[in-house]
Formats: sequence, C-alpha cells, structure tokens
Amino acid sequence: MTERLRLELGFRGQGLGASKKLKECYLYEMEPWLETTIGLIMMVVLGPAVGNYATSVVYRLPFGQTPFEKKPYCGHCNTMLQPRDLFPILSYLLARGKCRYCQGVIRASYIWVEVVCGALFIINYLTFGISETFIMVTTIGVFLTILSALEYHERKLFDLILTYLFGLGALLQTLQTGTIYSFFYSGFIMLFAGVVIWRASGLFNAQRLKQVPDYVWLMVLIGIIVPQPLLIATSALTLGLVVIQRVLFGKITATIPVSLAIYAALLV
Ligand SMILES: [Zn+2]
Repeated sequence: MTERLRLELGFRGQGLGASKKLKECYLYEMEPWLETTIGLIMMVVLGPAVGNYATSVVYRLPFGQTPFEKKPYCGHCNTMLQPRDLFPILSYLLARGKCRYCQGVIRASYIWVEVVCGALFIINYLTFGISETFIMVTTIGVFLTILSALEYHERKLFDLILTYLFGLGALLQTLQTGTIYSFFYSGFIMLFAGVVIWRASGLFNAQRLKQVPDYVWLMVLIGIIVPQPLLIATSALTLGLVVIQRVLFGKITATIPVSLAIYAALLV
C-alpha cells in the first residue's frame, strides 16, 4: 500500500467516525413538528406581549412620553395597573374592554394592535423560521402597526416612527441585496414620482404646494422597504386598498393600506 493510499484511507476512516458522531447528535435533535409547535407557542406568547408594548407607544407618543417613563397606568383614572390587568388580549376580554377601577372604556384599537402583532409573529415564523429576515420583517411589521394606529387616532403621520421605518427598511434591503444602492435607488425613484404627482396636483390647486403631503413620504417608505421588482405591484395594491377603504369606511387612514401592501410584498 502506498503512503498516499494509506493517508486517504485514514481520512476516510475519520470521515466515517465523524458522520457516526453526527448521527448520534441527530438523535438528540427534536422532531420537526415538535420544534414547530414549541416555536408557535413562543410566538403566541411573544407577539401579543410585544403588541401590548406597542399600544403604550401609541398611547404615550402623542403626549411626548416614552413607554420607559412611567409604569403602565389607566389613561382615565391614572391608577397604576396590576399584573393581572396587563395580559395582552385576555385582560381586555375579561374586563370587557373597560378599566377595572373606573369603568373607563379602553380603546378597541389596543386589542387590534395586540392581535395584529400576534398574527405577525406567527405568520413570519411559519414563513421565515427564526432568521435575520424574521427579525427584520417582524420589527418592520410592528412599527408599521404603531404608525397606522397613531394615524388612526391622531390623524397625522408621526415622523419619529417613520424615521425608524426608513432605517429598518434600508437595513433589510441592504441585508438582502448586499449593497446600499438598492434602497437608495428605489427610494429615490419613489420620491421623484411622489414629487411629480404633488407638483402636478398643484396645477389645479395652488394651495396644495405649500407643504409636502404625507403621501410623498409614504411613497418613499414603500421605495425604501420593498424590493425593486415589486415596486409597481406594491404601489398598485396600495391604490386598490385605498379605494376599498374609502368605499367601505369613508374616512382614509393612508398608513393602513400602505402597511398591508408593504407587508404583502415582504412575504412574497
Ligand atoms: Zn381607570
């Protein structure tokens, strides 16, 4: 036997040993269905809990407060809430949407924010598993929910949340494409398109040219978050959803159709 062949056999031997060890490791690894079930249970707990936190951002930001400043309290009677009042979704249902201390009505949008966040965590986990994409898409989803709930209640866009979303979208596109050109380019295209539409609308009504309208910033948001090939489809879907919202509910909360369309694009 030549020296070379002996060496090769030696390596193969090691290789076999290694694969045997690997097999033993596999025995300790969980069955896929069990892993998925445990993951889902985690998401069912974690999603609404994050949603609960998001509702305090929605309540406090218009007052210039952050969720860190004060322990959870009732917005009507200022009573500090007890742990049993703080279970996402359950506490709301058990108290039938009223404060346990003063019977003040709790905004129904709070339970919606918690339910939406729960759904986001579950859908994203089933789509992406635990991964970088999961973390980014879920965080973006939670911030879009906060932006929408804030616009729904306060009738305006909150720059702070919008800025976070610009940053998160830029990070996501950079991670996915490996370059910062993609979000710059598509963000700029949408900014350009938005400004053209805005200036054109000024031809009929000069009043409109005084301030950059919200839809320009929302178009930039779509450009920064959504991958380039999906830009046109996402914009079309947004327009369609705006029309549906208008027909069904009359008043328009622009961030809700925008968020739905962006999320759909991220799932594709
Ligand atoms: Zn109260």
